[in-house]
Amino acid sequence: MTILESQLAAENALERHTIGAGDYYFAPLKKGQILRILDLEGNQAADTLFFNANDVSERYSATDTIREQGNVYLSAGSVLRSNLNNPMLEITADTCGRHDTLGGACATESNTVRYDLEKRCMHACRDSWMLAVAEHPEYGVNKRDISHNINFFMNVPVTSDGGLTFADGISGAGKYVEMVALMDVLVLMSNCPQLNNPCNGYNPTPVEMIIW
Ligand SMILES: [Zn+2]
Repeated sequence: MTILESQLAAENALERHTIGAGDYYFAPLKKGQILRILDLEGNQAADTLFFNANDVSERYSATDTIREQGNVYLSAGSVLRSNLNNPMLEITADTCGRHDTLGGACATESNTVRYDLEKRCMHACRDSWMLAVAEHPEYGVNKRDISHNINFFMNVPVTSDGGLTFADGISGAGKYVEMVALMDVLVLMSNCPQLNNPCNGYNPTPVEMIIW
């Protein structure tokens, strides 16, 4: 785990957006700009995708990122890579210490498989992404561009026998992760509404997106 605090002050930020649990954030981040995702109340999961803003067929790739850094967890120093193995963003500060990119986002389908058939109608991150791309046709992203994601703040330890578990969160109120854009990107973040596993402490809460 790498804990590295930011030198940036929120009062000097360009933009600040509070995103409620179950809502999405979908907006450009220009090369050189810095994004902080702030876990306001703690134990939240921010399910996030990145696209090259100039060609959305280039997008965040968990496999390229993990292979190049030789580590399944993301933290300060991690370079987030695309499916063309280009650096998209770099994590420059992190007070949580570890973020997941293996667990995937929650979907109504996975909710029925993991939990119960009656969970099918519960709101899931994939629904929020679908709503975001439908409400923002100007970015040119559609359903087939939805792929690997990062679950910022989510604790998904790999067990010694190679399994994955959704464990209780390691984030807390006021913890954050910060990253600099190395190309013009689009940020698509679903603030997870999941109620069936401990990724949100069974209590989804807002996050803040802060941009410098
Ligand atoms: Zn989710």
